[in-house]
Amino acid sequence: MLNLLLFGPPGSGKGTQSELLAEHYGLEHISTGDLLREEVAKGTELSQDIEALISVGKLVPDHLILDLLFKHINQMDGKKGLILDGFPRTYHQAEELVKEFNARQWPIPLLVALDVEEEELLERLLERGKVSGRSDDHEETIRGRFKVYHEQSEPVIQFFKESHSPMIEIEGVGAIDEVTANLIRGIDQFIKESNN
Ligand code: ATP
Ligand code: MG
Repeated sequence: MLNLLLFGPPGSGKGTQSELLAEHYGLEHISTGDLLREEVAKGTELSQDIEALISVGKLVPDHLILDLLFKHINQMDGKKGLILDGFPRTYHQAEELVKEFNARQWPIPLLVALDVEEEELLERLLERGKVSGRSDDHEETIRGRFKVYHEQSEPVIQFFKESHSPMIEIEGVGAIDEVTANLIRGIDQFIKESNN
């Protein structure tokens, strides 16, 4: 079983690359952002609260995303492996992820961090905002999402370092297929090393 976590700032290409990697390795792609947007679209009790947070670029509470994600995972069958996109996004989510995976006796996932500088990210997200229809793809909220990323999500890297969990960093700038090729090279190297 191969499990991957696509990590990186907003607009770094997590969604795009996750889909391509899911295809390449035959993994199940789960985006927590998509799970939340589906929840909002369903118009459930929680919809308004979730949308209020997303539209200002804040994270939803850890317990909510953990509950939603692991309910989703429990419903899946045929687990060759998972690629999680947008999760974990806080130190606590990383801790809980490891606990849940250990409880299932699943291998600890590889953290794959996409590295892209902020100027490029802003440009990409503003461009996407013209067509995405997402309430959070406009400049003020994008800046807020960068701040949230630095303050709340970057500590996930710290957690992986402290717990000596596997992690690779890949340059996320260039043509989409070039980035994919670099990701595959890094991930294959990890697979090779874990088989030794
Ligand atoms: P991109 O997909 O372009 O990299 P992004 O990572 O900001 O951009 P999504 O992953 O779709 O976008 O997340 C959108 C919003 O959903 C976040 O800003 C946050 O409000 C919420 N969200 C998604 N994942 C989580 C999570 N793991 N914990 C808490 N909130 C989350
Ligand atoms: Mg995304």
